[in-house]
Amino acid sequence: RFEGITMAPPDPILGVSEAFKADNHELKLNLGVGAYRTEELQPYVLNVVKKADKLLLEKGENREYLPIEGLAAFNKVTAQLLFGADNPVIKQQRVATVQGLSGTGSLRLAAAFIERYFPGAKVLISSPTWGEYRLLAEISCEICSMASLPNCLARNHKNIFNDAGVPWSEYRYYDPKTVGLDFEGMIADIKAAPEGSFILLHGCAHNPTGIDPTPEQWEIIADVIQEKNHVPFFDIAYQGFASGSLDADAASVRMFVARGMEVIAAQSYSKNLGLYAERIGAINVVCSSPEAAARVKSQLKRIARPMYSNPPVHGARIVANIVGDSALFNEWNAEMEMMAGRIKNVRHKLFDSLSSKDKSGKDWSFVLKQIGMFSFTGLNKAQCDNMTNKWHVYMTKDGRISLAGLSLAKCEYLADAIIDSYHN
Ligand code: PMP
Repeated sequence: RFEGITMAPPDPILGVSEAFKADNHELKLNLGVGAYRTEELQPYVLNVVKKADKLLLEKGENREYLPIEGLAAFNKVTAQLLFGADNPVIKQQRVATVQGLSGTGSLRLAAAFIERYFPGAKVLISSPTWGEYRLLAEISCEICSMASLPNCLARNHKNIFNDAGVPWSEYRYYDPKTVGLDFEGMIADIKAAPEGSFILLHGCAHNPTGIDPTPEQWEIIADVIQEKNHVPFFDIAYQGFASGSLDADAASVRMFVARGMEVIAAQSYSKNLGLYAERIGAINVVCSSPEAAARVKSQLKRIARPMYSNPPVHGARIVANIVGDSALFNEWNAEMEMMAGRIKNVRHKLFDSLSSKDKSGKDWSFVLKQIGMFSFTGLNKAQCDNMTNKWHVYMTKDGRISLAGLSLAKCEYLADAIIDSYHN
């Protein structure tokens, strides 16, 4: 019976980490990881999380099931953090918020909702997007050996919608010539999508490119989405972690909401609170009336119940306690600023090292224009191979490096590796 089951391809990120572990070189660097590291390149538990944990232990809370929609106190604060506590959509109770299994689980819930209530509607996904580890058509995927990009198995956004039975296609996003945004291509593709499509947007710190639209570009994106009666669907996995400010990183989402649009937004606390393993996040659906929000929420619950019944409580209590206590909330903001600041410092140092060491006259300013945890180097696959084989720098083959896995002390070494690989 089970003999016919074929082996699934390994996850591309895990492959990078395993190869890193097996390398004994003293200068080796793992820039594949999408998790924050300290300057000493160690995992980090936020102090504010430790404090909240201690408080929870002292309170001795029970382990009863949560309701299907999750912890009420969490759902309240998570919507406030995203939209702003004074946002009319909150006051008017127009947001259906359901606690999800972090960003991924929240996206999956929304995908199931789209499949059920908007059958045949298309989701438009940026090219490239989260979980895609090759970019250029000439690179065939090493992981799944698929020759054509749309069939590649190693990609998370697309697989979430595939598994939910939602058809998707791509919009242009990355321009390899400028290592920047292909804004015209993006707008043209969103315009060309069938009316009423769901447009998946990265709220801030686009993964994997680190390239975000400017505020002016966001306005134009919103114009086109409105014109075509599309639904903006935000994946916001880095709120507060990208710039250090919760409000600044939510500006894109809030601008769409302020236009009176219906919006979907999936949140994650993996990065900004370092709660990777707690699986805490939420799905929010902004509706036109409180009645519609109540109906949408009831349907999200109906989808969640047979999938996983109800979500885990611990991460939800941590978030609710931190946001609900002004001292802890301020401390969280300071720690987020510190984490975002460390990554920004590393970004600047890498840019300075690249610019001063490279005598070819190449313009490295794209490194500074990108934001968030990642930098897209523009290195092609052969150059990435050189990074790993000669320099012991482990990264995904699309040229993405995680600056969270880099320290100031290692910037010069990395710059040497990148310059050597570029001119190889
Ligand atoms: N979306 C994007 C774009 C991401 O980068 C991530 C995390 N790497 C997620 C969603 C979700 O992660 P999680 O399920 O841990 O919240």
